[in-house]
Amino acid sequence: MFRCLENFRHARAVFKAAFCTLFTACLLMLSTAALAAQGAVILLYHHVAEDTPPSTTISPADFEAHLSYLKDNGFTVVGLDKAMDSLRSNQALPEKSVVITFDDGYSSIYSEAFPLLQSYGYPFTLFLSTGPIDSGLRNYMNWDQIREMSDAGVIIANHMVDHPYMLESLDSESDSERLDRLRAELLEAEQRIEQETGQSHRYLAYPYGEYDPAIKSILQKLNFVGLAQNSGAVGPESDFLALPRFPLASIYANLDTARTKFATLPFHANQLQPDSPVTTSRSPSVTLKFETGDYNLSQIGCFANSKPLAMNWIDREQGVVELKPHESFTGRRWRYICTAPDPGSSRYYWYSVQWINPD
Ligand SMILES: [Zn+2]
Repeated sequence: MFRCLENFRHARAVFKAAFCTLFTACLLMLSTAALAAQGAVILLYHHVAEDTPPSTTISPADFEAHLSYLKDNGFTVVGLDKAMDSLRSNQALPEKSVVITFDDGYSSIYSEAFPLLQSYGYPFTLFLSTGPIDSGLRNYMNWDQIREMSDAGVIIANHMVDHPYMLESLDSESDSERLDRLRAELLEAEQRIEQETGQSHRYLAYPYGEYDPAIKSILQKLNFVGLAQNSGAVGPESDFLALPRFPLASIYANLDTARTKFATLPFHANQLQPDSPVTTSRSPSVTLKFETGDYNLSQIGCFANSKPLAMNWIDREQGVVELKPHESFTGRRWRYICTAPDPGSSRYYWYSVQWINPD
């Protein structure tokens, strides 16, 4: 009788241990899935200097303040390749992952940013327009400096040859001729980078953040990833032909505004209508669908130029909303931004809609 009871106790302990192992494994899988869903934030810089155009400049002191804030506040700076590979295969990235990128290839990246980034041990990516570098233009790096950075592990990627306005046709050029020209220029820049550095990742940062569905489809056919300048965080559901990046220059270089952006989370949203950022309107409406996530639909706020947009819920259950501005926008490019607080933290989900009016 006693032995029988002992056997029963033993069997119960084995069962309990097996159950615990299974339960822990399930918990681990769940938390990995949650981490994978969190995504990354891609930062965009140009000049790190004092005397260059304010709209594309951050001072070396402000830039170092960003790096030091990231280091002291639990962020992990990951390479663009690691972020892309992980998000596209739905693998986990560290929580609060940030990717650092620079567009154009200015000399202050080599003289100011590179030594700072090396001292922090942070990986980063350069998107180069190869034309100005091949012509030895003032204010741009040369290939020796770029190769030195490439040898140090910096990712060198594509920003076209001559930094074109990709939506603009040349004189008497048809639309299909324009797209053929862009395709050739994209491949030429990729080839120049590979000749000089041995790198070819097929990442394109659109000059001025401008693109349309026809340009995206060129990238898709050539198996390129496209990076834009819409603000917001990147997740596995993002559009990999127009990934958002936060430009951090001028008034946006300030750490007080930048640190909110560093910590943003990817909104899983789809733009239902229109399907292109290019518009002839000065006050365009847009219809978005917010997929269910760890946020409350009623807490979504959308704004442009810091002013609220009218939100007309077409189907609240399904998260479908039409945004209408109360104003007319001037200039060539502007954005609508939607955010919602994360209930479990002080972080925000962030999604933006890019508009380009070339007229
Ligand atoms: Zn550029």
